Amino acid sequence: MPGHPVVPYITQWSAEQAPRLTVVARGQGIGYADERPYDRDTDGVLWTGVPCLPGKGQPEFGKVHALRQLRAIRELLCQVCGRPADRDAHGVLWLLGEAPDDLTPRTTELTTTHPPLCMPCALQSVRACPHLRKRYVALRARTFEPVGVRGALYRPGHPAPTLVDVAGVAFDDPRIHWTRAGQLVVRLREFTLTRLESAALRPPTG
Ligand SMILES: [Zn+2]
Repeated sequence: MPGHPVVPYITQWSAEQAPRLTVVARGQGIGYADERPYDRDTDGVLWTGVPCLPGKGQPEFGKVHALRQLRAIRELLCQVCGRPADRDAHGVLWLLGEAPDDLTPRTTELTTTHPPLCMPCALQSVRACPHLRKRYVALRARTFEPVGVRGALYRPGHPAPTLVDVAGVAFDDPRIHWTRAGQLVVRLREFTLTRLESAALRPPTG
């Protein structure tokens, strides 16, 4: 794929297909019929169980591998190369593709499913990706905290729970027990907007 010399760390590969697990009602929410302990994280959230086989088959650009996304956010790894994300006195580097409409100088927090980046990959992403080239927000955040997940939301049903939506659900929302998580949502605070190092890549203003 032109402009994509590397396959991003969080991209799913075609060999990484989630097995068809049967979703059943369990306790106050959902579980898998033949659930294993590693299907849930330490907070008890049920995750989409995908095997980890990066490099096997074809990269599926646009599809995010659940466990690598989770690991990249938790360990602050670059979403493209998997090495530590860029960090300086102002915090860790994040690149948001779309400026949230309500982003103003008074905005104090943002949520995203995008992991951070290292500087070379951030610069490369902005150069390679036509959307990003037009409009992006680079920021450095000092505080980042997982606050929920994005995933498949179910509701009670017979004979089995029914899939109703794909949604972001906060950890303190009771619907978290009815969600099969696919990506972690992180809240960024104490951030400052920044420019990537090359002045030529500054986004248009106004
Ligand atoms: Zn990188």
